[in-house]
Amino acid sequence: MKKSAADIREDLKTHVDFLAEAGAGFVLRRPEVKTAARTAGAAVSPEGASVRPPLSERPPQTDAEKAALEEIDRRVLACELCVLHRFRTHAVPGEGNHSAELMFIGEGPGRDEDLQGRPFVGRAGQLLRKIIAAMTFREDEVYITNMVKCRPPENRVPHHEEIDACSRYLVRQIELIRPRVIVTLGRTPTDQFVPGREGMTTRRGRFGDYRGIPVMPTFHPSYLVRNEGNRELKRMVWEDMQKVMVLLGRK
Ligand code: URA
Ligand code: SF4
Repeated sequence: MKKSAADIREDLKTHVDFLAEAGAGFVLRRPEVKTAARTAGAAVSPEGASVRPPLSERPPQTDAEKAALEEIDRRVLACELCVLHRFRTHAVPGEGNHSAELMFIGEGPGRDEDLQGRPFVGRAGQLLRKIIAAMTFREDEVYITNMVKCRPPENRVPHHEEIDACSRYLVRQIELIRPRVIVTLGRTPTDQFVPGREGMTTRRGRFGDYRGIPVMPTFHPSYLVRNEGNRELKRMVWEDMQKVMVLLGRK
């Protein structure tokens, strides 16, 4: 169905209002400053830190903030800011506790997620949910979302423009939820939050920092599913999650 001029104007206004609310630019971090000190694998250095204010203080959430999170969900469901909207059945904003202490960030919805409109419900998702239970968290205590909210065709890795367009939602979700720890699953979110040149085997297991929030990179559960017989991978993920549990007083 073709959109009327009034509809298009209304869409545009919603976007502009939202841009104004969220502040200029949605970059997760400032562009990388290339200095010798910024060796990959070291903790994220100050010049890589975002100019946006730290989130390590965790004041209780206001009703307005809870409403804002619901508004993000609505906007994501209607979003057409990048080409991925053309391929989706359902956008997948994320789910879980709106004041979660622990937040998991994946890459993007896969086939099952796209069909159901929920994050991490396929095979990799079932494994993630087992890991969460093993960490002594209930699913409704944590928050689970993705770098991009619509499924890339054939599950390809999302492009930079798509990640850039979509990060505005993730940035706001993090600002509103203010988790105490973030876990990035696999390379795509890890590249955004704990930039580095090495592979995940080297980068996993060491906390990075996003505006005062410790960020633990680990392997993506779909990588574990694809390498099912590899117990060493599972052991490493569990080691990483135990560090998170220590930080959150669950161990
Ligand atoms: N893989 C992801 O990165 N995210 C999901 O939601 C499901 C699978
Ligand atoms: Fe919008 Fe993100 Fe979906 Fe792109 S992936 S259309 S930016 S919600």
